[in-house]
Amino acid sequence: MNIFEQRESNIRAYCRVYPVIFETAINARQTDDQGKEYIDFFAGAGVLNFGHNNPRMKAAMIAYLQSNGVTHSLDMHTTAKREFMETFVTTILEPRGMSHKMQFMGPTGSNAVEAALKLARRATGRLHIAAFSHGFHGMTLGALACTANQYFRGAAGVPLEHVTHLPLGSEKKGADSGLAALAQLRENYLDPSSGIERPAAFLVETIQAEGGVNIADRSWLQALAGLAKEIGALLIIDDIQVGCGRTGSYFSFDDLDIDPDIICLAKGVGGMGTPLALNLVKPEYDKLWSPGEHTGTFRGQNLSFVAGKEALSYFENDALMQTVNAHAQTMNNALAPLAQQFADIDVRGKGMIIGLDVGSGERAKQIVNTCFEKGLLIASCGTGGRVVKLIPPLTIPAADLQEGLDILVATTQHVMEAV
Ligand code: PMP
Repeated sequence: MNIFEQRESNIRAYCRVYPVIFETAINARQTDDQGKEYIDFFAGAGVLNFGHNNPRMKAAMIAYLQSNGVTHSLDMHTTAKREFMETFVTTILEPRGMSHKMQFMGPTGSNAVEAALKLARRATGRLHIAAFSHGFHGMTLGALACTANQYFRGAAGVPLEHVTHLPLGSEKKGADSGLAALAQLRENYLDPSSGIERPAAFLVETIQAEGGVNIADRSWLQALAGLAKEIGALLIIDDIQVGCGRTGSYFSFDDLDIDPDIICLAKGVGGMGTPLALNLVKPEYDKLWSPGEHTGTFRGQNLSFVAGKEALSYFENDALMQTVNAHAQTMNNALAPLAQQFADIDVRGKGMIIGLDVGSGERAKQIVNTCFEKGLLIASCGTGGRVVKLIPPLTIPAADLQEGLDILVATTQHVMEAV
């Protein structure tokens, strides 16, 4: 028995899917301690948008450490933080005319969601949050109450209250059904005798990543944004997994013509697995915070600011986003024939997040396990784990992308033909 089996908590999970010991990693490849290489279509659950050991980030962090740059500073001012913030403002916020403030918290997505929920409740004086079926927002109690998955909710040990889950108006279901449901909801909210309370906020992912790569319909999202405004609720976009360039532009909602009150970011925003989370908050809401009210020891780690600033440099021109669009095309070209060949398969996605829905968790598991044996790291998501999710680093070389797709397509064909 190795140290992990002997001593690591039973809670360990991904290491059971990939039962090797990884030693090194560069861009979209990881190598285990026996020297076997794997192509990475998982990218740390959407963290490593810019690859493992990104050379620009690595060099910047080494230089920062060698100059005795401050590594830990709570939320004190540092040069690293100033440079990250200035770059974020000039690269991301100003070009979009966004006046949002940047709130840093403990470096997890869950913590960002917690902060957003607190502020929405304060801003409106309301208790309820409207979240969506199949949504994933984290594991701490407030965020978990918004997460839909029963397996995770079951671990809470206390009632998860004050959140209502509504159906997502997805592209797959079509605009009409989503809009009809929203119209009904609107009637209920506006009717003082419906018994249905208006929420403090709508918390939504534009693409439900863990939930099975469910893409929210554009007109539904716009109607939701309109409804939020009409009833005085905040619109919170959880862009934790699908932001930071994943869909072909910095925010997943850049082309959706909506104006969120709070945007939650984490995962990729810190660069290369260097943890960082932040909320972008409209100033009229941000001013409702008192100093230190949502505190935390690790609010903005300086190495994450240094690496995160390098990540922002990818958005100073559109080279990477053009690559994302080209890679997305390659991914779709490889997977579309599977959907034609097998009635049970559905392929959906935007930019470089693509879900290969194979109709059953058992099949998806076989595909994930066989891909692993053949040297491809990929994971499943969605109800019963039936969707194989492709989220490779955006910086993956074209040859690695093709090699990984070849493994995935051959494996999927084999598994689908066997059952
Ligand atoms: N929101 C979304 C959309 C996520 O995908 C995740 C993580 N999978 C979270 C929130 C929670 O982030 P963390 O695991 O860093 O707490």
